[in-house]
Amino acid sequence: MDHLPSNQTILIVDDEPINIKALKTVLGDEHNLVFATNGEMALKMAQADPQPDLILMDVVMPGLDGYEVCKRLKADTKSAHIPVVFLTAHWEAAEEARGLELGAVDYIRKPFSPPIIRARIRNHLELKKTRDMLENLSALDGLTNIPNRRRFDEVYAQEWRRSIRNKTELSLLFIDIDHFKNYNDLYGHLAGDDCLRAVARCLQSSLGRTGDFLARFGGEEFIILLPDTGPKGCQHMAETFRAAIETLNIEHKASPITDHVTVSIGGATCTEIAQCDQAKLLNLADRLLYEAKNAGRNCVRTAIAD
Ligand code: GH3
Ligand code: MG
Ligand code: MG
Repeated sequence: MDHLPSNQTILIVDDEPINIKALKTVLGDEHNLVFATNGEMALKMAQADPQPDLILMDVVMPGLDGYEVCKRLKADTKSAHIPVVFLTAHWEAAEEARGLELGAVDYIRKPFSPPIIRARIRNHLELKKTRDMLENLSALDGLTNIPNRRRFDEVYAQEWRRSIRNKTELSLLFIDIDHFKNYNDLYGHLAGDDCLRAVARCLQSSLGRTGDFLARFGGEEFIILLPDTGPKGCQHMAETFRAAIETLNIEHKASPITDHVTVSIGGATCTEIAQCDQAKLLNLADRLLYEAKNAGRNCVRTAIAD
């Protein structure tokens, strides 16, 4: 089978120039390749624009090793979606499990077989391409299955216009999981993903009216639009969502504030929608979220935007 050159880019991370050269020979015809010779460089290049579509990384490197780099990549929402494949001579089941647990998609043993590495990389890039396409087409967030940020932007604009027409109030809540980085660090990213799904489900089922709208804003942040809801309703609903998450009672032993998962919420209301603007409402809710964080977390802060 012939394989045309792809327009996808692989970031190869290895401290040994000889390994980089070997991989260039095997993969260079089919893909765009960029290289990093240490972990710090890899982290920088993963943020570059355009970002690499896949990272093929040695485990053993001086300075930051492959595991540490992978952990940091997965901890950053900007790079968490890039598949990581480990390359290693040091092969044991426990090591492999560790890499996969950190969020790597595959492990390839060195010395590698050229046809096998070519085929595996091709498969992972194909999956990445499909995921990117679906992500673009879909209005749903792939992890939690609730509306994504793009969909939120559309609904927010619609609800804004509707509120102007109907002269009704509009409230917006920003919800952020407390100490979620610690959660991932203690329980692993897969458990972190499960936690995000559980939080999304709980928020969804706690929505009061059909017009209420929940989306994943990004990372561990959610947003809720409450049409025709004034300051009192906003405060009441924010407290309802906060309490609902607390009642889920998901163990979080790494939280400095309690032993279960909690959220902080910032809520803002436009009472005179014609005198307010979309960015102002969003920014105020964001600022109030940080006030809630500073006030000790697991609490809500609400205010009027106009
Ligand atoms: P704070 O109480 O101040 O909000 O602390 P925090 O640790 O929750 O906040 P921070 O912004 O430092 O960390 C957010 C973490 O959310 C980092 C990242 O690992 C995690 N995260 C973001 N998106 C995902 C995801 O899709 N899956 C998993 N498992 N974790 C994610
Ligand atoms: Mg957080
Ligand atoms: Mg956050």
